[in-house]
Parts: sequence; C-alpha cells; structure tokens
Amino acid sequence: MAHADNLYIAASVADAVAVLADRAGTATPLAGATWVMRAPLRREPLAHSYVAISQIEALQRIDISEDEAVIGSCVTHARLAEALAGRGDLAALATAAAKSANPAVRQAATVGGNLCTADFAAADLVPALLCLDAAVELEGPGGLQRLPLQEFLSLRHALPVGSLLCRIVVPRSAARSAHARLPLRKAGDYPVAIASLSIEQDDKGIVTRAAVAVGSVEPVARRWPSLETALVGRPLNTAWIGVQAERLAEEFTGRDGIEAPGWYRVKVLPTLVRRAVEALSAQTA
Ligand SMILES: Cc1cc2nc3c(=O)[nH]c(=O)nc-3n(C[C@H](O)[C@H](O)[C@H](O)COP(=O)(O)OP(=O)(O)OC[C@H]3O[C@@H](n4cnc5c(N)ncnc54)[C@H](O)[C@@H]3O)c2cc1C
Repeated sequence: MAHADNLYIAASVADAVAVLADRAGTATPLAGATWVMRAPLRREPLAHSYVAISQIEALQRIDISEDEAVIGSCVTHARLAEALAGRGDLAALATAAAKSANPAVRQAATVGGNLCTADFAAADLVPALLCLDAAVELEGPGGLQRLPLQEFLSLRHALPVGSLLCRIVVPRSAARSAHARLPLRKAGDYPVAIASLSIEQDDKGIVTRAAVAVGSVEPVARRWPSLETALVGRPLNTAWIGVQAERLAEEFTGRDGIEAPGWYRVKVLPTLVRRAVEALSAQTA
C-alpha cells in the first residue's frame, strides 16, 4: 500500500472498497487513467483524490472455460484481444479490444474503465459485451452484486459509494460474433458508430438466435431487438439484413457531436451491420 495526498494505491479489492467508502464520495477509482487524464481537455474537474486499482492482482485475471469467460476489470484492451484471439463466439469482444483507440492506449485502457465511463458513448467494449449477454460483478460495502450489463449501464451514474466493478462474466456459446466500427479522421480515435453481432445458426444455416448491439449512435449503447427478431428463422444473407437494418434504423435517435451529426451516425448504421455480417461469414470461410 502507498499513500499520497490525492492518490492511494490499493493492494486488494477489500482495501480499495474500504478506502473508497471511507472517503465517502470524494475519491474515485483509477484504472488505466486514459479517460481520467483527458478530463482537462473535456473541461471536466479532476476528482479530489483517486484510488488506483491497477495493481490489484485479482482484477488482472482472465479465466476462460467452456462455459464462460471471466475477465478482471483491470485487464487491458491489449491483453484481452490477445487472450480471446481465435475464439469465434467471443470474436466481437476480441475485435473491439484490438481495434479501439490506438496501440499505446490499448496497453493502458482497461475493460472496467471502458464500462464505467458513463459519459463515453463511443466505448467499443460496451456494445461487444452487450451482444454477448455479459454480466458484471460489483463489490462494495454491501457485498458482491451481479447485474446484467444493460442494467449496469442504466445504474452506473449513481452507484453506491465504494462500489468497484471487479469482473465481467461472458457466457460461452455456439454462436459466432463480430464487431464493426466506423472511425473518421476528424473524430480522432473514437468511432462515430458501432455495430456488434452474435449469431447462432442451425446445421442448415438458419439463424436460431441473434443479438445485435449498437454503440456510439445514441448516448448509451443498447441492443436492437427489432432487427434481432427479423434475423431469426432465415439464412444469414448480408444484402437482406442490410435492407432490414435500413428499414429499422429510424428507431435510433443519433446524438450530435463535434465529430459527427446525429443523422450521420444513424445513416451509417446499416453499412456497419452489413460489415459485421460479412465478418461473420468470413469466419466460416
Ligand atoms: C486518444 C484516445 C482514444 C481512445 N479511443 C477509444 C476508442 O476508440 N474506443 C474505446 O473503447 N476506447 C477508447 N479510448 C480509451 C478509453 O479512455 C478507455 O476505453 C476507457 O473508457 C477508460 O479505461 P481506463 O482504464 O483508462 O479508465 P480510467 O481513465 O482509469 O477511468 C475511467 C472512469 O472509470 C472509472 N473506473 C475505472 N475502473 C473502474 C472500476 N473497476 N470500478 C469502478 N469505476 C471504475 C473511473 O473512476 C473513471 O471515472 C481512447 C482513449 C484515448 C486517450
């Protein structure tokens, strides 16, 4: 353990939770710091103090079994991409981790930071994990709590003081998944829109289960239930799915931002869905 006026380096989850609770709302967890360090650029205030969690060994673990992948919140994007490479059902997450930001940021940015940054609409790992039906495990003064990711996203602005995201649990399946993102040069490293898909097919190629998640278009990533319903019961046909995505895209209200207007984010969405389907098809080839 190390102390500084405004930085506390936690040695364990219990240590971090205790210090966060003790500093009652004035301290914030600090993981890879890639979001926090840009606070001045966003004209946001820094927290009064930080509890660094990146040296907690338990939060660095990745355990992959036949049933699930359990990912510690301090696993970096780079390590995640490496650990998941070649696993078709988790390919959306592997691609999201491998393509986000740039190589230097991927060495530091963590999966927990990606999910906990409530005002970061363009987070790549969020739609990837949504289409994989991930759950998150939080620890806090009240003990351990497991929540579906979508529920966590709606609660993360107002978590109880002392809460720490510790693990992400992703069920394994016979599905294949893919992640397509559109970065624009003027948008820097952030994607203006993201589509993540997870598709299960029977032995005749008919889709039996479909999960589609959209990121960066609206302020918070979410699933696309109407497109999921349209996909089930048919073969995986890129052109047909693109037409369905065009028909249903008006369900989204794009967010305006300096890097792209809201209408543009919605307009490119069907193209990203097509690209994700093509990426899935390439996996079987
Ligand atoms: C130039 C640049 C480009 C980027 N482009 C992309 C991109 O295209 N796609 C993408 O996905 N990401 C991108 N990022 C990275 C983005 O900052 C990270 O993905 C992520 O949002 C932050 O992770 P972190 O570990 O650095 O979090 P930190 O900066 O350490 O923390 C971010 C927030 O999460 C909270 N937090 C962190 N961990 C926990 C936890 N375990 N429990 C509770 N709260 C926690 C912190 O208190 C803080 O509020 C980019 C970053 C930079 C600098």
